[in-house]
Amino acid sequence: MTNFAGKLQDNFFHIISKVCTDSNTKAFVIGGFVRDLIISRPSKDVDVVVLGSGIKVARKVSEELGKGANVKYFKNFGTAMIRHGEWVIEFVGARKESYRSHSRKPIVEDGTLSDDQNRRDFTINAMSLSLQKNSYGDLLDPFNGQEDIENRIIRTPLDPDITFSDDPLRMMRAIRFATQLDFDIAPSTFEAITRNKNRISIVSGERVADELNLIVLSNKPSKGFVLLDESGLLKIIFPKLADLKGVEVINKQAHKDNFYHTLQVLDNLSQNTDDLWLRWSAILHDIAKPVTKRYSPETGWTFHGHEFIGAKMIPGIFKKLKLPQNDKMRFVQKMVQLHLRPIVLSQDIVTDSAVRRLLFDAGDDIDSLMMLCDADITSKNEEKVKRYLKNFQLVRKKLKEVEEKDHLRNWQPPVSGEVIMETFGLSPSKTVGDIKIAIREAILDGEIDNTFEDAYAFMLEKGKEKKLRVVKQIPDNHGGK
Ligand code: ATP
Repeated sequence: MTNFAGKLQDNFFHIISKVCTDSNTKAFVIGGFVRDLIISRPSKDVDVVVLGSGIKVARKVSEELGKGANVKYFKNFGTAMIRHGEWVIEFVGARKESYRSHSRKPIVEDGTLSDDQNRRDFTINAMSLSLQKNSYGDLLDPFNGQEDIENRIIRTPLDPDITFSDDPLRMMRAIRFATQLDFDIAPSTFEAITRNKNRISIVSGERVADELNLIVLSNKPSKGFVLLDESGLLKIIFPKLADLKGVEVINKQAHKDNFYHTLQVLDNLSQNTDDLWLRWSAILHDIAKPVTKRYSPETGWTFHGHEFIGAKMIPGIFKKLKLPQNDKMRFVQKMVQLHLRPIVLSQDIVTDSAVRRLLFDAGDDIDSLMMLCDADITSKNEEKVKRYLKNFQLVRKKLKEVEEKDHLRNWQPPVSGEVIMETFGLSPSKTVGDIKIAIREAILDGEIDNTFEDAYAFMLEKGKEKKLRVVKQIPDNHGGK
């Protein structure tokens, strides 16, 4: 019998043990905490299953812990949660579950420890540790989860077809754990995912999105997307990404497989950032390639405008995937739309004006954009990769120089709409907007400096062209943000 008493030394484990002995109940640490303890992945979330009332045990434990503990009861669910320092400990009575075909919500009854272990999704998540005095720390591992951890295998404890059909979210969880832990999915388990893929339709989009985000946030997210693709789930939950797959050949000319390219970009980027939304930008940067793909004998394969069409597709994709319709989405749109711009800057003889325009369009997100562009280099030719990376370093240098000179990163118009209105006695109107745009364009084109003086003089000039009468001269610095 493997014993982990040495790893259950925090005082609350002993307090739970004492409370159970005193009240003649039994409790076990179960699930993810046990798995993580064996893998040596630090975790402070503890699930405790009680053969009896989880709420009663939690109440007594919190009394023993005294002031340092904060306890909450969820009477409807028969569960309780104690926060104790960094620890979050959940108490729940052992359960038996049975399912109906249209819902992933089970019918729940009181059960034994074994019932509770049977309802778990994977062998590695079904292990428990005894908190009884005479067997403290003993590992109860009915499905050889420990061995599966050693062999790095995700496997369901019972018939996988039943496990996945009962609660199809487990298919996403299998792929998510395989990706997070870099484990393999046992062939029989994986085949059952393939067979049951259509059952995913009874799972809410939000739950699928949660799992998808955990895959995206893993060290090597491509692993999860390849598994989603191979199981057939990707076509169902995210068909637009699956559409990137494949290579077409005409006249012996082939384009690259944009699915695997995208995954490579995502992995490259993931080595440098944990930012979920920048990672999503990598996933979506070429999403419009299938719909913009053209072939001509002269130019070969092209994907003209895929950055603009792609940016337009983002709101629809986010909505379908139940991702947020807010500034996170707009950030991803911006990244997708701008992802080719730095390449243009690195190739041509670049005018300051082009650099200024990129700074203006990217604003504070310019560093994220450059990170995405670095990751977008997926050539197998190391020399090429080096050369492209170096080009982007030069682009960064130019961006820095122009920014220091012109301060366009978070550009505010040096002459405000109010100043324009006061000067010419105008009320809010298209004319005011036109003058504002003309000032901005003149600054971006480098015709005038990004200062109040220059912009004000330029505005007077524009007013003259438009035959506007100056009704009030504004002294220097007025409104000159
Ligand atoms: P993580 O914290 O990384 O998400 P975890 O395994 O702790 O991993 P939870 O979702 O907190 O994940 O679940 C806790 C435990 O509950 C799992 O280890 C597993 O035993 C069980 N569990 C969770 N979801 C399911 C499910 N859909 N089907 C069966 N068992 C589940």
